[in-house]
Amino acid sequence: MYPRLEIDIQKIRHNAKLLVDKCKKENIQIAAVTKVYCAFPEIVEAIKDTGIKYIADSRIQNLKKLKHINLPKILLRIPMMSEVEELVRYVDISLNSEIDVIRKIDQEAKKINKVQKIALMVDLGDLREGYFNEEELFDCIEQVLKLENIKLVGVGTNLTCYGAIIPSKENTQKLVDIAKKIEKRYKIDIDFISAGNSSSLHLIDKNQMPQGVSNLRLGEAIALGRETAYGDKIEGAYQDAFKLICEIVELKEKPSVPIGEIGMDAFGNKPVYEDRGIRKRAIIGIGKQDINISAITPIDTKIDILGASSDHLILDVTESDINYKVGDKVEFNLEYGALMSAATSEYVYKVFKG
Ligand SMILES: *Cc1c(COP(=O)(O)O)cnc(C)c1O
Repeated sequence: MYPRLEIDIQKIRHNAKLLVDKCKKENIQIAAVTKVYCAFPEIVEAIKDTGIKYIADSRIQNLKKLKHINLPKILLRIPMMSEVEELVRYVDISLNSEIDVIRKIDQEAKKINKVQKIALMVDLGDLREGYFNEEELFDCIEQVLKLENIKLVGVGTNLTCYGAIIPSKENTQKLVDIAKKIEKRYKIDIDFISAGNSSSLHLIDKNQMPQGVSNLRLGEAIALGRETAYGDKIEGAYQDAFKLICEIVELKEKPSVPIGEIGMDAFGNKPVYEDRGIRKRAIIGIGKQDINISAITPIDTKIDILGASSDHLILDVTESDINYKVGDKVEFNLEYGALMSAATSEYVYKVFKG
């Protein structure tokens, strides 16, 4: 069945192992982030014994699905007040930045006789989640330490997400310094110092990862073999564990400029066309309703993507060395946004290999 997302589980497993080894040298443990592939249990099963120490996801729904996997679960997204009751059942460590939510976690944890672990998020400049003001952070900690069913185990930060700020030795060191300050001031152990995501890996290569960082939360690096500060490939990792395969439904020679008055396309944009004469065009059975079309690349590099509507993607196959026919398959590599949407889409079939 097509379109399909073909998933090579062994390649993902290889990437996870490679990253575990890379981080081990710096005494950093990995939380494998599973959200981009909707925490498919087939993939998580394949990576669970590679040495990763945690499973992390933004959605409790996904973590719930992985209840049978014997690794501690981290909830990545700041929890909603309304999901706290679920949280205490399915999450081992949550990342938090609001005392009211933490109080609610304390209440719900008490009801089921649990001590719930939390890490506090610190905003080092990316301006997404976390305490920006250090005094506010310390105020929060003082209140947290009074809560009987909450255990503060760490601090975390997230960079390169909203503000696209690149992790540096300096901003990462700040997180370690804050952790040390907390330990000294309150005489508690802060063992979980979670410095970032796939955009922090470049610090290891440059020998600039501050001592004391104990955790990284890696999603894209494991799934797509890329670090995300500069978008570079990770040496020795696979970038093609995921492949999108679609079927040609029409193949015809047509002019490259539509005939008639140009109005608006299906999405309200007024398109511009370059006249390249008669071209061989293939329509494949995938569209904007199925996945995010802007982040896919044909593996046949001689194919150009001309455009897409809700259900059809039009390709120029004139230059290709392959003599495509109706019913043939065309394969694509996926970037993060395309993988996320393909994994999530109910219109894309998932096929696991290896
Ligand atoms: C998504 C996410 C990650 C993983 O990011 P990658 O760039 O895929 O490694 C890490 N931390 C948080 C808080 C996230 O939301």
